[in-house]
Amino acid sequence: MENSGILIYAQLTRDEYIHTVFFELAQKAKELSAKLGGAEVNAVIFTRPNLVFKYKEAFENRGINKVYYFENEAFKNYTNEYYSKLLVNLVKQIKPEILLIGATNQGRDLAPRVSSALNTGLTADCTGLDINENGKLAATRPTFGGQLMATILCKTYPQMATVRPKVFKVTPDDMYVQTEFINCPVNIDLTGDRYNLLNFEKTIDSTIDELDSAQIIVAGGKGMKNKDGFELLKKFADKIGAKTAASRGAVEMGLAPSSIQVGQTGKTVAPKIYIACGISGAIQHTVGMTGAEHIIAINKDENAPIFEIADTGIVGDVFEILKEYLTT
Ligand SMILES: Cc1cc2nc3c(=O)[nH]c(=O)nc-3n(C[C@H](O)[C@H](O)[C@H](O)COP(=O)(O)OP(=O)(O)OC[C@H]3O[C@@H](n4cnc5c(N)ncnc54)[C@H](O)[C@@H]3O)c2cc1C
Repeated sequence: MENSGILIYAQLTRDEYIHTVFFELAQKAKELSAKLGGAEVNAVIFTRPNLVFKYKEAFENRGINKVYYFENEAFKNYTNEYYSKLLVNLVKQIKPEILLIGATNQGRDLAPRVSSALNTGLTADCTGLDINENGKLAATRPTFGGQLMATILCKTYPQMATVRPKVFKVTPDDMYVQTEFINCPVNIDLTGDRYNLLNFEKTIDSTIDELDSAQIIVAGGKGMKNKDGFELLKKFADKIGAKTAASRGAVEMGLAPSSIQVGQTGKTVAPKIYIACGISGAIQHTVGMTGAEHIIAINKDENAPIFEIADTGIVGDVFEILKEYLTT
């Protein structure tokens, strides 16, 4: 049997919703499928018993042809050991051409184990996916510390890639298909896991989620200079109903927590408006925010690279500009 079709891992959140990154991947997979002559776009999901049909509409509306589901009470919590074994078995059986996984914490844990068990390549944290002239997955991601964008081809199957949330957009396109649900046997020992999850405590700063859904983000860089400068930025953000983010430069200066860092080693955001204040526009930063609909940059250096991607550029002293706005 030849490898065919695109398989997407449908991660569930702790509240048992399908993670938004799945819908982003599904949208991109539809584009890839068209270039592959209409290859099937399928999903795989792990749930507690009798839960999968709760997601029927979501899968159908995103044009998912088949959903392979594994159900067991043990799947209430993610475990690398069970999920990877079953996913590997499924892939060996159905032989997808492409396997896509969201680069969430869970996806970053799962994907390498699956790729190594399948002896195939994995392009992690991609910023672009396409099909090349030979019908192969062309996966693009930053490399050499973000100085270059590399497009990577995988010689083996399935061609695997992970993509961070918010890198691809979801449009309200009608992709309805009737989805076929396939119950997959859980034919591994579920008592042999090497650890038990006793308790789960959310310690992650809630600003992380806030940035995901923010319509306006005001981000500060090293140009904000010190804590007082960053406080000014926060006041401005509050006044316009925005959330605050930072460059790594600002995080390294101790002006902001790393949880709100945007960029290659931070978050990827896609607000309606992104206001970059005192940020030079290094590619490692911009890779995390070019999905914004409108980028406004304030920088005193007219040659700062941020102006190359900004829709609106303001050359001037950020302190003067923010203070002026706050007093009007
Ligand atoms: C592997 C790797 C991963 C990385 N990941 C990330 C990442 O995830 N996110 C990230 O942001 N960076 C990341 N970086 C770092 C990145 O390369 C840059 O060093 C960083 O983004 C620079 O931060 P900055 O723009 O705040 O500082 P700078 O580059 O120092 O820019 C400060 C800017 O402020 C302007 N300025 C100064 N004073 C004023 C003023 N009064 N008014 C207006 N403008 C002013 C200056 O003109 C300058 O353009 C990474 C680097 C590497 C090697």
